[in-house]
Amino acid sequence: MIGRPGAWENVKNRQTTGLVKRDSYQILDIEINESIEKTLASGLCDLNEKDIPLHDYKDIPEFLQGNPYVTDGYRVSLPFNLCLKSMFIWTNETMNIWSHLGGFFLFIFFMLYDNIIELPNHQGTVADHLIVTAGLLCYQFCMLCSAGFHMFGCHSERASKRWLAVDLAGILIGVIGCYLPAVHYAFYCLSIWRDVYLFTIAALSALIVFVQFHPQYFSVHWFYQRISVYVGLVAYGVIPATHWYFLNGGWGSEVVQMFIPKVVVMYMLGMLAFTFYITKFPERVFPGTFNFLGHSHQWWHLIIVMAFAFWHSAGRELLYYQTRHECHV
Ligand SMILES: [Zn+2]
Repeated sequence: MIGRPGAWENVKNRQTTGLVKRDSYQILDIEINESIEKTLASGLCDLNEKDIPLHDYKDIPEFLQGNPYVTDGYRVSLPFNLCLKSMFIWTNETMNIWSHLGGFFLFIFFMLYDNIIELPNHQGTVADHLIVTAGLLCYQFCMLCSAGFHMFGCHSERASKRWLAVDLAGILIGVIGCYLPAVHYAFYCLSIWRDVYLFTIAALSALIVFVQFHPQYFSVHWFYQRISVYVGLVAYGVIPATHWYFLNGGWGSEVVQMFIPKVVVMYMLGMLAFTFYITKFPERVFPGTFNFLGHSHQWWHLIIVMAFAFWHSAGRELLYYQTRHECHV
């Protein structure tokens, strides 16, 4: 049920009838009715309390529903400039936006630090620079897509669906960013298997992109199907990891003892994040208590950033191991 018609009805009507104002344009179904320069010039934090009213769960349109245990703090049908400004006020999405914007800047920092300091200190090759940079760019892309979804998802139903697609594409790229350096350095001396696994991961990713064209893919009814696709892609990693374990001589091998515990920790972090995501804990137990701080999606975001950072450092250790040891194959 929609509590307050006003702005929401206006945006909905404009979008369904195509009556977009002539001085506005659209990017990813966001109607830009005020230039970015004008928005920035007006001062991002310069907000009147009435500019962004926050709504209860019972008053928000269906496309914003999904977590009834977060009972308040919803932004509804904001224009572009207020979506942007809303990250500077306390809503139930503020932490979701900033946690992944923070992650984005963290991975930019890692990229600069690795390329300027770490890799030159370890005699990294051009290929090392490229692989490490590609992995971190994937993480950055994932973080930006997610922050964008949480910032602009409240604009309109169409924008929300479009940005959900962007967010999911970001997750796919983020998972590819986990596989790419790990497979490259784990199978450093076994280039045939490296190519087999990189090709398989590319093929699975292409298949996921293809599945996204199904008209039902982004609907609420396909929630579990969407999740299974990503869980499948992540779970696939057990196959190359197990194969790698045996190719390296099992637990007696130094590199196996170094890297396999990190694979286990990474999967445990992934499962922990996923548990928060799927169970909606802790707000399920205390509805309304964690509306602004501490609800499950914020834990999911935080653990994903930690998992990416952890996996990046694990990949770096594997790289240094491979550069210290010559291939004997
Ligand atoms: Zn999110």
